[in-house]
Amino acid sequence: MVTSAYKKYRQVPSSTGLTGADVARKILRDNDITEIEVGHINGELTDHYYHKKQQLNLSDGIYDGTSIAALAVSAHEAGHALQYKQGYFFITIRNIVIPVTNFANKMFLPLLIFGLIASAIATTNAFGVWFIYGSLILLGLSVVLNLVTLPVEFDASKRAMAQLRDNFNLTDEELYGARKMLTAAALTYVAGLAVSILYLLRFLLIFAQFFGER
Ligand SMILES: [Zn+2]
Repeated sequence: MVTSAYKKYRQVPSSTGLTGADVARKILRDNDITEIEVGHINGELTDHYYHKKQQLNLSDGIYDGTSIAALAVSAHEAGHALQYKQGYFFITIRNIVIPVTNFANKMFLPLLIFGLIASAIATTNAFGVWFIYGSLILLGLSVVLNLVTLPVEFDASKRAMAQLRDNFNLTDEELYGARKMLTAAALTYVAGLAVSILYLLRFLLIFAQFFGER
């Protein structure tokens, strides 16, 4: 959906004539955010906001594109900068969850394998089983990360739309296109959540069988 929305709205020029980079810079400036640099990054829709490095990077078609897609995506990335400025709740939570999840992702397989070996060797006690449970809880953390990503992404798009509506003199039709583009992009994160839930369920079902046999 995001690819087809992008294909469509990158062909639609905006009446403002502004590039994605112009839009991002204006939003930052209008909101007294001076420390973030707007830069260019290679690739298609590789746009991202990187707070630690104070960079807002826009991809090939967005950075110097003047389409509705370029305006929408750059305003979305600037929306993330606004979240930090305001101390938005879910971005704070997400930044706590990210390192925990990274660690959990590294530990998941070793813990699972150790649990399986331990329970194969010592079939009389539940020692190994606890490691298997533990590994599944670690896997569940990815679901949590994907879950807290949703409000962050939807909120960034909401802020983007407010900026585009209030400060850029877009027509209703242009605003409609920008919203379409951002909705399609947000669905990527909904899909990400669904995938992580299915992945967890898959392991739970495998081990439900495993525990059932014991
Ligand atoms: Zn985003």
